[in-house]
Amino acid sequence: MQTLNSVFEVKGISKIYDSTQALSCIDLSVPSEQTTVVIGPSGCGKSTLLRLMIGLARPDTGKVYFEGTEITPMNALLLRRRMGYVTQTGGLFPHLTARKNVILMANYLGWEKTLIEKHLLALAELTQFPKDGLQRFPAQLSGGQQQRVALMRALMLNPNVLLLDEPLGALDPITRYDLQNDLKEIFHKLRKSVVLVTHNIEEAKFFGNQMVLMQAGRIIQQGTIHEFIEAPADPFVTRFIKTHRSPLEIQKGGDV
Ligand code: ADP
Repeated sequence: MQTLNSVFEVKGISKIYDSTQALSCIDLSVPSEQTTVVIGPSGCGKSTLLRLMIGLARPDTGKVYFEGTEITPMNALLLRRRMGYVTQTGGLFPHLTARKNVILMANYLGWEKTLIEKHLLALAELTQFPKDGLQRFPAQLSGGQQQRVALMRALMLNPNVLLLDEPLGALDPITRYDLQNDLKEIFHKLRKSVVLVTHNIEEAKFFGNQMVLMQAGRIIQQGTIHEFIEAPADPFVTRFIKTHRSPLEIQKGGDV
């Protein structure tokens, strides 16, 4: 069972792809109404962990509980309606306009047209997406706008949690900076439980109080950046932080 104030409980999950051990014995508790950032080098298993949490893949061993219910192949689709998911490239349907991408599931579930319209306009406002862009197809939108549409789509059914897999990874630095700030404000306004994957420690520090550092399919340490610096659980923690120093810090000769 899960503890009261956690939204996900991950218990002893492992996942092997062919000969790759993508995840080994992962235990993780994700607190409600906070942003938890999963961080680690490329290939360490971050996306696989997220996909298991959202029920898009099955663990070989172990269990994932979402709000107290174990995710199984039988209930994954239903549970997923209470989770919003955004990937690095947004995953929008290219043949549907922004509007249709966002309202797809609400339409499918038979929501009333006026309610759909109300939600859509509120989301466009929240994500600062221009209303005249709603009639455009994804290819007619900038990368940042596409991610705003992907976020609107993820929020349309008013999910309890948002899972974002490198949502800003494909954007240029300026767009990334703008969207980082907007996203943080949105998370704060909505008070949702958020799990965000990134390989960028600056981004992790910006978004999350709680960080989960992974390496080679394992969680090496969970805590705040200060705990990582003051009490590293493994030499890898210090190495990971040091290799992510900004050029300015390196120039100044700063330690971390
Ligand atoms: P990250 O998100 O940290 O970059 P991933 O979770 O995508 O890492 O991948 C972890 C490991 O599992 C990698 O070695 C990757 O190649 C492998 N992997 C992930 N998905 C698959 C898949 N569908 N088939 C085979 N190998 C996979």
